[in-house]
Amino acid sequence: MTKPVFRFAPSPNGRLHLGHAYSALLNADFAHRFGGRFLLRIEDIDITRCRPEFEAAIYDDLAWLGLHWEAPVRRQSEHFADYRAAFQRLKGRGVVYPCFCTRKDIAETIACREAESGEAWPRDPDLAPLYPGTCRALQAGEAERRIAAGEPHAWRLDMAALDTLAPDPLLFRRFDRDGQEEVVTAHPRRWGDAVIVRKEIPTSYHLSVVVDDALQGITHVVRGQDLEAATDLHVLLQTALDLPTPRYHHHGLLRDPEGDKLAKSRRSKSLAELRAEGATPQDLWRRLGFGRQPTPST
Ligand code: GLU
Repeated sequence: MTKPVFRFAPSPNGRLHLGHAYSALLNADFAHRFGGRFLLRIEDIDITRCRPEFEAAIYDDLAWLGLHWEAPVRRQSEHFADYRAAFQRLKGRGVVYPCFCTRKDIAETIACREAESGEAWPRDPDLAPLYPGTCRALQAGEAERRIAAGEPHAWRLDMAALDTLAPDPLLFRRFDRDGQEEVVTAHPRRWGDAVIVRKEIPTSYHLSVVVDDALQGITHVVRGQDLEAATDLHVLLQTALDLPTPRYHHHGLLRDPEGDKLAKSRRSKSLAELRAEGATPQDLWRRLGFGRQPTPST
């Protein structure tokens, strides 16, 4: 039997905080308990926000925590060709369309539709409002003309077209801390026509993560509950791209005393700051509920 493969996949757009430490330790702990492998992936497709010093700090913080990972580390910024190939595959299947809308265009269209219908636009509290479909309905030839004229555009998934490719119900496996598995249903429709290739970057988080999990042979994805909705979309993308679907575990999020989830953007205390205040790795493992230092088997 092949070994289970786990990964921790941070983005180098800030210093790691306690929530990242928890996710990394949990992955390593699973790998240890399941006799699996532990990989690290640097998710740096957003080259405007990611910085080399943050990447260096990730290696430093994780090593300080006592983690070991396999080399080489996959850095997404070195693999745009893989994401382009996956996108071409989706395009070949007719499940994407170009979108020229700005955020403002979308907000205005939604406001108009709400005014016309007198009803609130459907929205999932965790997600951006559903795309109203403006660019799905362009006249034949118009999209090609606007692309040829150099107009900035993203690419969106055509949920209705994807539906025809995906089994109904769309199922995947979830596992708990003890490795007990259950089959659950994914609900990717709640995303509407999600952006799959961004205007300013020739891929997206969703596309790259799905491609990389497959290329790295990830069998078990362990990540926070804030990405639970993303899993629904990822399972659909895996189906559309003929990629295997890993098993998923979504862990609870660490919160600050006000109840907000820890976040780089909220200036939650970084591991570096905790270290400077005298915290030891052992303090953090204990504080995060790990009795011993996870030492993944190699
Ligand atoms: N790069 C993502 C983050 O830092 C995690 C992606 C994932 O685990 O799938 O939040």
